[in-house]
Amino acid sequence: MIPAPVISIENLTVTYGRRPAVHHVEGCFDSGSLTAIVGPNGAGKSTLMKAVVGLLAPAEGCIRWDGIDRLRDIAYLPQQAEIDRSFPITVGDTVVAGCWREIGVLRGVTPVLWRRAIEALSAVGLEGFGRRLIGSLSAGQFQRVLFARLLLQEAPVILLDEPFTAIDGRTTADLLALVRRWHGESKTIIAILHDFDLVREYFPMTLLLARELIAWGPTREVLAPANLLVMRRMSEQWDDDAVTCSRRAA
Ligand code: ADP
Ligand code: MG
Repeated sequence: MIPAPVISIENLTVTYGRRPAVHHVEGCFDSGSLTAIVGPNGAGKSTLMKAVVGLLAPAEGCIRWDGIDRLRDIAYLPQQAEIDRSFPITVGDTVVAGCWREIGVLRGVTPVLWRRAIEALSAVGLEGFGRRLIGSLSAGQFQRVLFARLLLQEAPVILLDEPFTAIDGRTTADLLALVRRWHGESKTIIAILHDFDLVREYFPMTLLLARELIAWGPTREVLAPANLLVMRRMSEQWDDDAVTCSRRAA
């Protein structure tokens, strides 16, 4: 049986002001697929992911979510650099905050939710960390906390922006095991990554982006040398002041 697309992207262009960061992307993420998004710095990877989450509106084209409620069913992990850790909040509160909708409906954190948070922390190797302040954690420990929060959310679609950048090897291996477990549970997973070896080993599908889509499909085909050459050539030609879309200007 051919899997159904869960997120379809049609002719998507996203701009900051008038400056396009992602041009004319087309394709779909199938239900249950495990996809890596790769490309050079400034390629528009985070922009594309934010558009999928709904944090950025398309300037052109559209994104369709089939059979999923974008607010309820998508769990999103931003790049660590975008998260403020100086806020005096505990590990436990950070994890349960992932269920803010549930907390709102129940008017507070129930003992059941707390128990699930403690279980999630133990699943990511942070037993007994519930009362620690997030500012006191290492980068790897904090990423484990954010994965515990994803566990609690139980969303069918999970988006991860550079989940393993600046994270130690042991933590990366542990969190990758969680990603594989989610894949085994037929969740749809999209992750922005830089390590091509890791992508080749763990991610069946890859989307290669350099502001425009270079290739999207099975990882071995997408990461072929010819495509990587195109990616390098395109990124060398970027004009950061361009306000028009290069494809339309051609
Ligand atoms: P990547 O994640 O692939 O490194 P981004 O999506 O973060 O790339 O950025 C793509 C382009 O958009 C870059 O040129 C970047 O400078 C620009 N950009 C990203 N965020 C903003 C923003 N909030 N305002 C203006 N330009 C931005
Ligand atoms: Mg980025």
